[in-house]
Amino acid sequence: MNATTDCLFCRIVAGDVPADLVRATDDTLAFRDVAPQAPTHVLVIPREHHRDIAALASSDPALAGRVIADATQMAAELDLAEFRLVLNTGPSAGQSVFHVHAHVMAGREFSWPPG
Ligand code: AMP
Repeated sequence: MNATTDCLFCRIVAGDVPADLVRATDDTLAFRDVAPQAPTHVLVIPREHHRDIAALASSDPALAGRVIADATQMAAELDLAEFRLVLNTGPSAGQSVFHVHAHVMAGREFSWPPG
């Protein structure tokens, strides 16, 4: 796969696909999910292409840490006292976009176990 042209989230990073941006750092972007599953639903991604959190954590654990740190920082900036942080990893776990992303969801009650 050519990450820059074939990956939807790489195209968002490149500015070729529009996104509702919430926060940007040198390493990460946070933007609102197009199909929100909660009143607040933001995706936090590294600008660099990595397929999923397992691939990212194995090739660049510091960047994996910054994705999580930036997700929690973004939650604080949005005044989200409580939220759910999800990284679907692989199709059977619900991953549909293969550029690692952390879902930050808040504003409603969440059940457990997730479906
Ligand atoms: P996952 O199923 O964990 O891979 O999550 C992918 C998420 O990306 C889904 O929640 C989609 O609604 C979301 N999504 C797909 N296309 C876009 C887009 N262009 N902008 C923002 N979110 C998107």
